[in-house]
Amino acid sequence: MHILILFEYMYNMKKTRYYIIMYVLAIVLVFALPNIFVKGNILPNKGQYNNEEKNIYDFIETTNIKVLLTSTNQVVDMGLEEYIKGVVSAEMPASYEIEALKAQAVVARTYSLNKIIEHKNSGNTLHPDADVCTDSTHCQAYLDKENRIKKWNDKGEDALQLWDRIEEAVLSTNGVIITYNAQPIKAFFHANSGGKTENVELVWGGGEIPYLKSVETSGENNYNQYSSNVSFTYNEFKQIMKEKYPTFEIDFSKDDCISIDDRSDSDRVQKITVGNVSISGTDARKIFGLKSTNFDFKKSEDKIEFFVIGYGHGVGMSQTGANELAKNGYDYIKIIHHYYNDVDIINME
Ligand SMILES: [Zn+2]
Repeated sequence: MHILILFEYMYNMKKTRYYIIMYVLAIVLVFALPNIFVKGNILPNKGQYNNEEKNIYDFIETTNIKVLLTSTNQVVDMGLEEYIKGVVSAEMPASYEIEALKAQAVVARTYSLNKIIEHKNSGNTLHPDADVCTDSTHCQAYLDKENRIKKWNDKGEDALQLWDRIEEAVLSTNGVIITYNAQPIKAFFHANSGGKTENVELVWGGGEIPYLKSVETSGENNYNQYSSNVSFTYNEFKQIMKEKYPTFEIDFSKDDCISIDDRSDSDRVQKITVGNVSISGTDARKIFGLKSTNFDFKKSEDKIEFFVIGYGHGVGMSQTGANELAKNGYDYIKIIHHYYNDVDIINME
């Protein structure tokens, strides 16, 4: 109805007014069209994010986050993006491909946001006075610019050039995070998967998480810590086990005194029987200080030797895998989608 009135009006009006209206319409179209096509593609904008988390992001963008420096037991205030630079600098070699570093920045930002929300919702007994800590086993490792540069200088590396790469990775992905069902995901990552990442529930138990599924990742053996081995004398082995399991007994003369009972599809040990004790691969990894749960062992006359593939828990993004994908032309968006199933990558700016 309104359109008909407009046409009737335009038909009756003077030519100059008609041209003015057409001119305005043309300008509106030229500026609006690119937006219509760009929005909602790879990086949906803030509007698609749910309000509660948007507010938390806005909050930590405008007020600093509190970081517990575990080395000095000191809580310091800093901007989120400043903190992310320190996380990337501590968690991934700066010599890695720039797209891998960008993926790491997005993963680190997402992981932090998830932790902060989790701590705000269900409390945080380990550091109630800080949003995050610098213990990599609880939150993420962190190394500030000064200390990072000093470490590189000590090794004779081009520190300023390396720091520039960290800055570029963080600044060029400013505000970008990974979400699933409009929530920042648990963006786990590890150094090297050994060729295949792991389903989250096979590492820490609990339920399946749809975006943390095992995926293949090639070129992992290009990494210098892809394989490792550790050996223990019978005595050392016994002592380590007894410390954890006081009733532990083993008869090393028996061929089957140690047996791997179950492995996952990615070859990680799920269950291992050692003497009279049956433990998970994750516990065995912890107890014997193995780099991953993808291991085998050899019993010789007086010692037990473990042969290990990969480095880390194997859940989420493999950092060496990300670097390999980047070498093969993947950008950070494609890298993230490779490791996290069905997620959205959202720019919150
Ligand atoms: Zn923490």
